[in-house]
Amino acid sequence: MTIVGGSAHFPSWRGVLEEYREFLPVTASTPVITLLEGGTPLVPAPRLSERVGARVLLKVEGANPTGSFKDRGMTVAISKAAEEGARAVVCASTGNTSASAAAFARRAGLTCAVLIPEGHIALGKLAQALIHGARVLQLRGNFDQALTIVRQLSERAPVTVVNSVNPFRIEGQKSAAFETVDVLGDAPDALCIPVGNAGNITAYWKGYLEFKEAGRSTRLPRMLGFQAAGAAPIVVGHPVEHPDTVATAIRIGNPASWYGATSAASESGGGISAVSDEEILDAYRFLASEEAVFCEPASAASVAGLLKLGLPDGLGGSATIVCVLTGHGLKDPDIAISQISVPTVVDAELQAVLAELAL
Ligand SMILES: *Cc1c(COP(=O)(O)O)cnc(C)c1O
Repeated sequence: MTIVGGSAHFPSWRGVLEEYREFLPVTASTPVITLLEGGTPLVPAPRLSERVGARVLLKVEGANPTGSFKDRGMTVAISKAAEEGARAVVCASTGNTSASAAAFARRAGLTCAVLIPEGHIALGKLAQALIHGARVLQLRGNFDQALTIVRQLSERAPVTVVNSVNPFRIEGQKSAAFETVDVLGDAPDALCIPVGNAGNITAYWKGYLEFKEAGRSTRLPRMLGFQAAGAAPIVVGHPVEHPDTVATAIRIGNPASWYGATSAASESGGGISAVSDEEILDAYRFLASEEAVFCEPASAASVAGLLKLGLPDGLGGSATIVCVLTGHGLKDPDIAISQISVPTVVDAELQAVLAELAL
């Protein structure tokens, strides 16, 4: 999953901080803690385009060094923490934040502690946090409770919180919006994105606004955010005490950036909607089998939403729509295996293999 020395779209890619330095809150004396994150591919999705009736592209964030978009914000948050002389960073996480924080903290030589909801974290993400040497505590509670404790912890102990309540996270995550403009030559007509704690939709919108302001684009996309139906506080209009969804990365009942999401949606003429777990898993299998792109279930919420709503009002066949695929499918192998039939076992004989494959 690591990008070494550039990607197809960005030869000699230098990482988010160097590529978009003038839009980020860093100075010449800020240490650059990077794993060359960002510069992820914007992959055409021909089958999806056909179904939707417009050009659809997939922003494949699983191609980041730790396999999710969290790396974009983490490079800035950890660089700033290092600049400020922090010794330790802490986060609450549904998984990917902890994987990313653990990796970037290692890179910076900082201690990392993470609080995750017991039993609701994908196996790959847990493995990442552990292998990078984070102190991992599994909380008997959900993400929202973990975040509350992390915020309290930062008032008692000398630690920097690297959840998206840390504004440097949002700053770094803007870079994904910048990249879509740089690749397309302008902003897309619409952006479809999963919404959990709502930091990412907030960051994309901020990025699109800043690039337009700077004359790097001429227009703004409609922001279409999608929550899982069992964890859709913004859609129902109040916090959800017991969020529940197969898409663990967006299993959040009280988003920290709630207002950021609603303003992105309303200012852009977009909206926040819910998709069921069944719709999420349909989109998840569709992406893997039809577009050959393997994302995690939460990521598929963007595509599930687009398939459900169809082409947004007022857009025609010449529209360009970007769906953000927030994390890599390998993060959550248990879900993948549960969605397909297990491989057949045969004897180690050519005849048996031929008979079974019936090629
Ligand atoms: C963190 C995450 C999300 C949700 O992003 P928010 O900024 O919390 O809305 C969605 N998908 C994946 C894979 C994630 O890791």
